[in-house]
Amino acid sequence: MLTIAYDGKVGGWQTPKIVPYGDISLSPAASSLHYGMQCFEGMKAYRALTGGDGRDGKGEGDVVEEDDLRLFRPDRNMNRLKDSMRRLGMPGYDFDGGEVIECIKELVRLDRDWIPSGRGYSLYLRPTVISTHPYLGLSPPESLLLYVITSPVGPYYATGFDPVRLTTDTPYVRAWPGGSGSSKIGGNYGPTMMPGAEAHGRGYSQILWTFGEEEHVTEVGAMNVFFLLEKGGADGKGRRRRELVTPPLTRGDILPGVTRQSILELAERWDEFDVVERSITMSEIRKASCDGRLLEAFGAGTAAVVTPISHIQYRGEDIIVPAPGELAMRLFDDLVDIQYGVVEGPEGWSV
Ligand code: PMP
Repeated sequence: MLTIAYDGKVGGWQTPKIVPYGDISLSPAASSLHYGMQCFEGMKAYRALTGGDGRDGKGEGDVVEEDDLRLFRPDRNMNRLKDSMRRLGMPGYDFDGGEVIECIKELVRLDRDWIPSGRGYSLYLRPTVISTHPYLGLSPPESLLLYVITSPVGPYYATGFDPVRLTTDTPYVRAWPGGSGSSKIGGNYGPTMMPGAEAHGRGYSQILWTFGEEEHVTEVGAMNVFFLLEKGGADGKGRRRRELVTPPLTRGDILPGVTRQSILELAERWDEFDVVERSITMSEIRKASCDGRLLEAFGAGTAAVVTPISHIQYRGEDIIVPAPGELAMRLFDDLVDIQYGVVEGPEGWSV
């Protein structure tokens, strides 16, 4: 694992080290253990594939490029980690993200034999920053540990591209304007587990989190969310007008996902429908569904890339998404092709 200590008393960030994976020793008074002074990232290293179509998820026909290891837009993860640290009042958040990426590359090279090959397989990377400051007073920490641990992971969809059933019916709220929902901090995740388990017990795999009396949709589980809607009328090329909608980052209650941003940029390039970041409420989604204009819905995140949504429980009734998976599958294929180097994506996406 990569470890980089920060100590305000001796000049800040110390020399990075790669050491064997193992337990860390921490004061029981460390403020990470009391006040949630910690944040993290989730990213992956991929072993490149070329040739074959491999599009069935089995990797059939894919040729593994043993020496070609790739990260996907790691600069975005570094910037988000810095933003999370800043939100927590941690010092040292102005570190050079490019330098930490160089350290992560070295870790990935060392761990290369742990990277499984094949479409859907990767090495998950978990950059984490914790306070090591042994101080029970409520004040910003003076010492930190940044570390990165890794784990091989397999395809998310062992049994195919399964759509998920969501529920909005929960009294709990994940994030709100002015809160910390746009940061990747542990404090946002712990409190979602009990409501998530409760939803699971009722037959829904995740919660579609909404905010406020108008029930603005925010995120699904730990993914960003997209809706494909028909707008009525035709576009300049005579096609039915459609829009791909995802909630905006402006309220600060949504995590700025790397997958979310990549989907927005890819879909924008296709120029087949409007691509819009705007507020969308549950009543709008229900109305679109009643009018037959709700075409598709899916979640997006590093773990599963894209997750089609089939049902959304709202005030006791299930809204049924008619075609779960068409656009989701296309985005999944395009993103995965870029992540595995089957096609070269936009400049800077593959590192
Ligand atoms: N929202 C939340 C709350 C998340 O935890 C994640 C996973 N990091 C995402 C969205 C998706 O972000 P990304 O595409 O960067 O994985």
